[in-house]
Amino acid sequence: MALTSREKGSVFDHSVKIRPRISTGANQMTAIRSSTGAARPNAPEALGSADLADLMLRAGAVRDRQWGDAISYSRKVFIPLTTMCRNTCGYCTFVKAPGEPGANFMTPEEVLAVAIGGERLGCKEALFSLGERPERRYPEARAALAKLGYSTTVDYLVDACRLVLDRTTLVPHVNAGTLTEEEIARLREVSGSMGMMLENVSRRLGRPGMAHHACPDKAPLLRLRTIEAAGRLGVPFTTGILIGIGETFEERIESLVAINELHLRHGHVQEVIVQNFRAKPGTAMAEWLEPSRTDMMRTLSAARLILDPSISLQAPPNLEETFEDYIDCGINDWGGISPLTADHINPERAWPAIAELSRRTAARGYRLVERLTVYPAYLGRETAPLHATLAGLAGPDGLARDQFVA
Ligand code: SF4
Repeated sequence: MALTSREKGSVFDHSVKIRPRISTGANQMTAIRSSTGAARPNAPEALGSADLADLMLRAGAVRDRQWGDAISYSRKVFIPLTTMCRNTCGYCTFVKAPGEPGANFMTPEEVLAVAIGGERLGCKEALFSLGERPERRYPEARAALAKLGYSTTVDYLVDACRLVLDRTTLVPHVNAGTLTEEEIARLREVSGSMGMMLENVSRRLGRPGMAHHACPDKAPLLRLRTIEAAGRLGVPFTTGILIGIGETFEERIESLVAINELHLRHGHVQEVIVQNFRAKPGTAMAEWLEPSRTDMMRTLSAARLILDPSISLQAPPNLEETFEDYIDCGINDWGGISPLTADHINPERAWPAIAELSRRTAARGYRLVERLTVYPAYLGRETAPLHATLAGLAGPDGLARDQFVA
């Protein structure tokens, strides 16, 4: 795919070569300074102190030029294939250890029932979101997989995606965490797109007492490698950052720069999510301060200015009461929203009804549109295994042919 050139006035200068680097916690913005060593006035490190209203204006202008007045969402069902995981992220309520209520693998019948239920309600995407490689940690997970006839979660995931493809009109989007290139190649055959939150490139977050302690799959290098492998295979990819988990603002910027660099190399990052941490009772981070709305708005605006304009910028509407303010920060997407299933990652935060989302989007001068799991710019790739399936669901503009926006 031909990449669009940077918007004039963007903070990012392509003459300065960026390579994804892993933070050690020190200020590592030297790579994004000019060759003279002086920080440019518009450089990413200035985004933390720039006037927020000005940042928002510039971010909104970038969005308007690239995406016009459309703010999209994907109508989907959420399929949590397994709630077990070998990681123990400090903020997670999704994960369940063997023996805890809800620790399970869904059966094929359960997967199909959710997908059929979503199809009846006009959904087009089956979001498979699941714990990472629980079989490497728990004998109970290995036993549950063996009962289903599998030895790894990825093996089962491939067949579960195929089941949904064969028996419904939904297209799977796979969010299974870190994956090898061989695993991505197999999953590419049965999914339209894939995703995995980078979260942050800071290795500090893996230290004791931090959000990613004892989480082997949250090693930044592994996650960057997964995104890069997806790029080599041409998989339309979703990633993003999670803010408020102990990172610095500069580390957020480094993470966005790293994502952008991977996209510039491979042209495959179709969307980036900026998600705000919410403290949940019963987790290790239950008492942590949540990022403020202003912090979120600054980060979103910075993201819009750092990322290539062709990358969709998404913020979840169910994690902030006045979510429409995000429109003023340059977002163009609300993410996946389900009329059937809960947000299993944030089950206490219900999604807004589509009619309300539409009304509040329109109140800011924008129109809600329904997209597929694959964005219009990626639909024309005829070598994609699900090209024909996706084309059958799309209208002439590449958005969902059958629009549910009210
Ligand atoms: S990797 Fe995902 S599912 Fe596993 S503990 Fe972390 S947030 Fe939860």
